Amino acid sequence: MELLFREDPYLATTRARVVSAATGGLRLDRTIFYPEGGGQPGDSGRLLLPDGTALEIVDTQKGEGPDEVIHILAEGSSLPEPGTEVGLELDWERRHRHMRVHTSLHLLCSLIDGEVTGGQIGDGKGRLDFNLAQSPDKVWLEEELNRLVKADHTVQPRWIDEAELAARQELVRTMSVKPPSGTGRVRLLEIEGVDLQPCGGTHVRSTGEIGRLEVGKIENKGRQNRRINLRLA
Ligand SMILES: [Zn+2]
Repeated sequence: MELLFREDPYLATTRARVVSAATGGLRLDRTIFYPEGGGQPGDSGRLLLPDGTALEIVDTQKGEGPDEVIHILAEGSSLPEPGTEVGLELDWERRHRHMRVHTSLHLLCSLIDGEVTGGQIGDGKGRLDFNLAQSPDKVWLEEELNRLVKADHTVQPRWIDEAELAARQELVRTMSVKPPSGTGRVRLLEIEGVDLQPCGGTHVRSTGEIGRLEVGKIENKGRQNRRINLRLA
């Protein structure tokens, strides 16, 4: 399956062909739908049949294979035949909020000097857990985040060999989410001059597109664990 969101997360519509369809989900030859993973929710949207009927895609999940994506249709949808040419349409506003929040968590990561032990992206908000003894100052953190947003740093993916990554373990910040491996190369996400780490998610093109950020609660989740909440203002 061709994962179009990897090279172009701004593709909101495309054409695809049905490979298989079952009540458990739909497989296509290519997709713009991001499957839940790395703390980012699966995409939702619509699948358009040749006769104009629109089927709701309520969620997207990873399949068993490395690049397999399962599109989950609303209950009771009539299933298209394999080989059918369909149109795909994302719930773009929702996905774009995921992209903005996801990119903001990379900024947060660059400002906090502690291992990331978990994280979650929601609609308009997100959080990271850090292995950290002391909470950072909230006012300072919000100012620094918005300084990075305003500076409008370029955000882009690039790929390196697994062997090169193995030799540069300092790039791996998130111990709870291992970078996808087994295909010989690993996708890195670079925010120019700010952050570089393996990541398979979807991001905005430049940090200015995130818009103003607010730091929510900073929670103590154990002696060495600080949970930092962010939201789009
Ligand atoms: Zn990312």
